[in-house]
Amino acid sequence: MSYDDEQGTEELRKCPYCGEPLSRPYWVHVQSEHPEEYAAKETWVQLYKDYAGMGMDPSVCFIVISELFNATPEEVESFLKEKGVL
Ligand SMILES: [Zn+2]
Repeated sequence: MSYDDEQGTEELRKCPYCGEPLSRPYWVHVQSEHPEEYAAKETWVQLYKDYAGMGMDPSVCFIVISELFNATPEEVESFLKEKGVL
């Protein structure tokens, strides 16, 4: 997995909840401003559906979500698999 697509996803680096532009590490904003969403892994499901619906590659979705929730892309992928989303 590479970050070659970093540029393509840069415009998505805003908060999915309030639209505020984010800077690294992205999860700090979610943790402090949206603690309920941050604590609930269930929100990954909707985020994944939103991003995938925008045509984003699944592997990129995993990276974006992992960066918003201080997780690893592998963790996001296995959670979504567990939930039957993938
Ligand atoms: Zn926000």
